[in-house]
Amino acid sequence: MNNYIKYDNQVSWGRTLHASHEIAFPKFSSQLENIIKQGSANKNGLLAIGMGRSYGDSCLNDNGAVIDMTALNRLISFDEKTGVLFAQAGISLEDILDFSIPRGFFLPVTPGTRYVTLGGAIANDVHGKNHSNAGTIGNFVNEIGLMRTDGSFHKLTPNKNIGLFKATIGGLGLTGVITYVGLKLKPIKSSLMDAETIKFANLDEFFSLAKESEKNFEYSVAWIDCLAKGESLGRGLFSRANHSINGDLSIEKGLSLPDIPIDAPNFALNRFSIAAFNQVYYAAGGRKKDLSQISCFPFFYPLDFIGKWNKLYGKRGMYQYQSVVPTDVAKDATKEMLEQIAKAAQGSFLVVLKTLGKIPSTGYMSFPFEGTTLALDFPNKGKSTLDLLARLDDIVKEARGRNYPAKDGRISAQMIEAGYPQLKKFEKYIDEGMNSSFWRRIKGK
Ligand SMILES: Cc1cc2nc3c(=O)[nH]c(=O)nc-3n(C[C@H](O)[C@H](O)[C@H](O)COP(=O)(O)OP(=O)(O)OC[C@H]3O[C@@H](n4cnc5c(N)ncnc54)[C@H](O)[C@@H]3O)c2cc1C
Repeated sequence: MNNYIKYDNQVSWGRTLHASHEIAFPKFSSQLENIIKQGSANKNGLLAIGMGRSYGDSCLNDNGAVIDMTALNRLISFDEKTGVLFAQAGISLEDILDFSIPRGFFLPVTPGTRYVTLGGAIANDVHGKNHSNAGTIGNFVNEIGLMRTDGSFHKLTPNKNIGLFKATIGGLGLTGVITYVGLKLKPIKSSLMDAETIKFANLDEFFSLAKESEKNFEYSVAWIDCLAKGESLGRGLFSRANHSINGDLSIEKGLSLPDIPIDAPNFALNRFSIAAFNQVYYAAGGRKKDLSQISCFPFFYPLDFIGKWNKLYGKRGMYQYQSVVPTDVAKDATKEMLEQIAKAAQGSFLVVLKTLGKIPSTGYMSFPFEGTTLALDFPNKGKSTLDLLARLDDIVKEARGRNYPAKDGRISAQMIEAGYPQLKKFEKYIDEGMNSSFWRRIKGK
């Protein structure tokens, strides 16, 4: 029996790219072997996907087969002494937190949304607001179960099958299907955060705040007004926090709005509405605030309270651009990028600036390295947006930086080759039966 059903018009989070998929929805891990075998026979190969929170084409496999892993979402075991949790790869970070917070544990690293699967988080080796002192999620993985399209099953650990382990962490789903993960969680005393937000007037102030915060704050991130120019270039709000030691372990997710039901009209997000939002948001973040206690959910996942917020960008979707540049050139390169963005009057209110720390990433293809990362959304305005992104590429290349494949659907093979020096090592471990739209674009096939 063929387990695949054809779906047209599949999109990733950015909604600029569309794909036609043959999709299988396994409910039990015992079905996987057969489903993998069937899917890998497709001429465009097979790709396992999670919740589709990647923005570009790394979670698409146009005219190919796809396994939706989200029903393989069971907890397998949890050791309260060591904090090591084993779970099927399709479990969401939200489900992990619902289980772990009342027991006094939190994710060791989390991206800015809890609506991603554990497998997806590993396949992109995600980083979070604690990168400076924790590195990426791959550093907390004890074990991975990986099924390959030749029917073989591999148990990967930091000490066993090391090459395949490093290729699978950040491996964009190209080394096989991750079936389960063993992840070491971090103990917490409270589900609250001691957090504060500080207004900064320009990039220099951002870099001093980032440095000062490293010592005393586990988490930090900044929001930037990308349309501010001149003296105010790079102004924004710096937020930093630690897990509180007071309070209980209750789960307070706060307000949750329904999904955005339809695409917003294309004019809804224009330079005037974005500039107005940025002005008000910056002004409201005004006063220097003392530490205050807030629930961990709005701190880590400020966007999760609006379902399908990506529809706010209208039918044409948006591009996200995330780069990292090394520390020695970070100030100049970030300044140049912000100047280009402000000059083009593009960008949006979702702009994040963050320094990444020294701890090396585990994966051959992991994105983070020591430096500064800028991430922002651009409503898709066609050629003018693509031209601006190409100018940003030039700045990143010149600065010896790289772009994040999880956020990308357009950078060139040359940018990937220049930015990822371990690409050749990674390629040795690719499963020939796996493929993706991203990989075909990079390989030109
Ligand atoms: C609002 C928002 C905020 C974000 N913030 C951050 C952030 O702070 N830091 C960060 O690093 N990222 C961030 N991201 C990106 C997001 O964390 C990654 O794209 C993540 O990988 C998405 O997981 P997913 O389950 O949706 O996987 P998908 O997007 O569906 O897939 C992602 C990749 O994982 C592979 N994959 C998924 N499941 C498996 C499996 N079982 N076996 C093998 N391969 C698999 C896919 O093939 C694909 O290559 C953010 C995204 C959004 C929308």
